[in-house]
Amino acid sequence: MNHQMIIELIEKIGYEIIKNKEYLTDLDSAIGDGDHGINLARGFGAVTKRLPDLWEKDIGAIFRTTGLTLVSTVGGASGPLYGSAFLKAGAKLSGKYELTMEDFLLAFLEAIEGVKMRGKSVQGEKTMLDAMIPAKEAMNRAWSEKQSSKECCLAGVAGARQGLEYTKTIIATKGRASYLGERSLGHIDPGAASFTIMLETIAENVS
Ligand code: ADP
Ligand code: MG
Repeated sequence: MNHQMIIELIEKIGYEIIKNKEYLTDLDSAIGDGDHGINLARGFGAVTKRLPDLWEKDIGAIFRTTGLTLVSTVGGASGPLYGSAFLKAGAKLSGKYELTMEDFLLAFLEAIEGVKMRGKSVQGEKTMLDAMIPAKEAMNRAWSEKQSSKECCLAGVAGARQGLEYTKTIIATKGRASYLGERSLGHIDPGAASFTIMLETIAENVS
């Protein structure tokens, strides 16, 4: 995938996030403050406006601008978290105009590290990490079995969806949902849901 296809892909991710604004906000109403969809829709709306200026830029710059825009336009916790994810991934992709599956997997690992660092969080705390980490593991597995890029991404989506379902069964110990303690049980984590939407969009658009 070249740099211009990445721009188109980020635009599609933004479109899907904005389309799912109500769904994400409803999930956050159950265990948070009901703004996750609104927050991300605002952030990706701003990102979409910046994308045309990036047409000639390398993939690292595209990701970094996306990250900085999310940090500066998303009010909630998810802004700095997704912002760090894109910034850390962008740092790995500096100077690249073509993205291979190997690059993607390296950048994805950095993105996870970015969220962990910024959120001081680990797997199992009912956050976006509970979709990201199983997705990454499933993609690594598929890649080591020499599956195609498309198959790897689809394996990642299956991993993310499993992680998403798993968030229903655990108590939140990070973020706003942690204030609810046991009452967070039985609900999906909104950040895990938004990440799953992002990866689904990537999988649909990889050939
Ligand atoms: P806020 O909680 O400030 O209202 P959002 O509603 O936009 O922000 O985002 C909430 C999501 O952010 C949660 O569903 C969770 O996935 C994620 N999140 C919150 N805190 C953390 C953290 N410390 N580490 C990782 N993810 C987190
Ligand atoms: Mg919220």
